[in-house]
Amino acid sequence: MATCYVLFGSNLGDKETIFTQACLLINNRCGAIRDVSAAYESEPWGFETKEWFLNRVIVLETDLVPEDLLDALLQIEAELGRVRYPDVKGYASRTADLDILYYDDRVIRTKRLVVPHLRLHLRRFALMPMCKVAPELVHPVLHMTQLELLRHCPDNSFVREICYQSNEKQ
Ligand code: AMP
Repeated sequence: MATCYVLFGSNLGDKETIFTQACLLINNRCGAIRDVSAAYESEPWGFETKEWFLNRVIVLETDLVPEDLLDALLQIEAELGRVRYPDVKGYASRTADLDILYYDDRVIRTKRLVVPHLRLHLRRFALMPMCKVAPELVHPVLHMTQLELLRHCPDNSFVREICYQSNEKQ
């Protein structure tokens, strides 16, 4: 059984509902969700769009090997309506993006999969929710905790925790 940290991102549609659906599908197909971070609203990173992102980290215990977990997450992204545009270079708006940030303390570099995620340490929208669920987790390549990575992160894009009212979705 491995512990994985998966970053959810969405900037299209009803993002909260899509997050709930993503969690249901992940729980059914990938393993048990042990925790989820607070929700964060973040400025688009790497491309221009008016729609800001919802980001949350999901803590998952899984029996799937990394490549099978990737396939399951790609399938869930597709079912939640993500369309990949082969003509668009770089980033684009999406209903659901599911990235594997960590898979235990494994270091994986294949054609299809890089874990820990290649740009995790460069993105406040990934580090802030990671700091919520596992502040002391050590990055197996950079040998820094999530809090240290956030402190050293060169990204200064806007990311804020969303504080839900008690009658809103959590
Ligand atoms: P994106 O369009 O940014 O969601 O990238 C998805 C592609 O990135 C997938 O098809 C994977 O082959 C590749 N990839 C490489 N490393 C990872 C990772 N750690 N988590 C998810 N996708 C990854």
